[in-house]
Amino acid sequence: MKYSQFNSIIPYGDKFALYNTFERKVIFLEPKLKDILVEEKQKGIGNLINVHPDFYKYLVENNFIVNDNINELEKIKKLVYEIDESRKKYDLTINPTINCNFRCWYCYETHIKQSKMDTNIVNRVNKLIQKIAQNKELKEFTLGFFGGEPLLYFEKNVIPIIDEFIPVMNKFNKKFDIGFTTNGYLINDKFIDYFNKKQVKPHFQITLDGYGENHDKVRFITQTKGSYFTIINNIKKLAENGMFVRVRINYTDENLEDTYKIGNDFSIMENFAKQNLLIDFHRVWQNTKIDDINIVVDRNVELIRKKGLIAKSSSYNPETVRGSCYADKRNSAVINYNGDVFKCTARDFKTEHREGFLDENGNIIWENNSLERRMNAKFGSVSNCMVNYFHKFRFCNKIFQYTFQ
Ligand code: SF4
Repeated sequence: MKYSQFNSIIPYGDKFALYNTFERKVIFLEPKLKDILVEEKQKGIGNLINVHPDFYKYLVENNFIVNDNINELEKIKKLVYEIDESRKKYDLTINPTINCNFRCWYCYETHIKQSKMDTNIVNRVNKLIQKIAQNKELKEFTLGFFGGEPLLYFEKNVIPIIDEFIPVMNKFNKKFDIGFTTNGYLINDKFIDYFNKKQVKPHFQITLDGYGENHDKVRFITQTKGSYFTIINNIKKLAENGMFVRVRINYTDENLEDTYKIGNDFSIMENFAKQNLLIDFHRVWQNTKIDDINIVVDRNVELIRKKGLIAKSSSYNPETVRGSCYADKRNSAVINYNGDVFKCTARDFKTEHREGFLDENGNIIWENNSLERRMNAKFGSVSNCMVNYFHKFRFCNKIFQYTFQ
């Protein structure tokens, strides 16, 4: 028998947690038992049966100790394959434009003023949607709008896609949802009415760069006209109309302190509308100071929760296999306004970096075998990385826990 490669031991309060990332099981160990486990692991884990038979039996039954002939790397490969090659779901993201009404300092995109999806590309996208929907294996289709700011030309190049998408989904009896990653400034009653008339509730991710003036320093219309209160009001309208909004708070060590006040701005909403909001703290990735502002994040999350709102702090997601990124999946693509195709939205969207293009018949033509190369990259020569890749953990996904003495 051998000690599973997916086990990790970390201090947890006055105990230690033994977590197996593959099984998604965690048990809490008294320090003495942790010492025994570590010692017997070094000697050869099979010896644990003589020292603590019950504990050994338990670890075997729950795959913390596995048979020597089990190839754990193959287990991951199989799991990754099942998840990333699944044909049941498709994630299609559209950039109607890569122009934007803001100029956030940390934005990695190259904004092109004249960028706008024209009728020709809209038609290609609609043909692609038709083709995807006809696949019998497909159960769910997520249509996302990104950018730039996807609402800049909503009527001209987003409505013609959605007007086509919904009947096609209904015709082929597919579950679907529609999402927008938007700065939220251009949302208005007409926009909300459009979806209410269609009886569709899209979901949103809308970012705030801190509270009030801090936000306005990053996202402003003119030097004297910010955007904070307009965006807050727009988020409220969406939530009150039953639409889910992830309010992403982009924080730095400079704007974090008073972000709890954002909770006050939503606190007067009805309870049902509050349930449509998730206030989600993310540190701006370029803000890399080593500090302990996590304490302030946790405090602000708590203060916002006290207002009856749902809030959390997002950090590293350990579930990189089961919760793998959309870009790792075969059934995902990002279509830029000009028909260039990418796998991931974290790109500058320059044509020289594209992975393919959308042809006149609505087929995605992956160039230089880019799709296959990406799908296989995870299983390259350094395949042991896969074990480490899967090995990182956090307790948010625990589905099982037990304390052993
Ligand atoms: S709102 Fe979004 S797309 Fe526009 S500049 Fe800011 S980060 Fe970039």
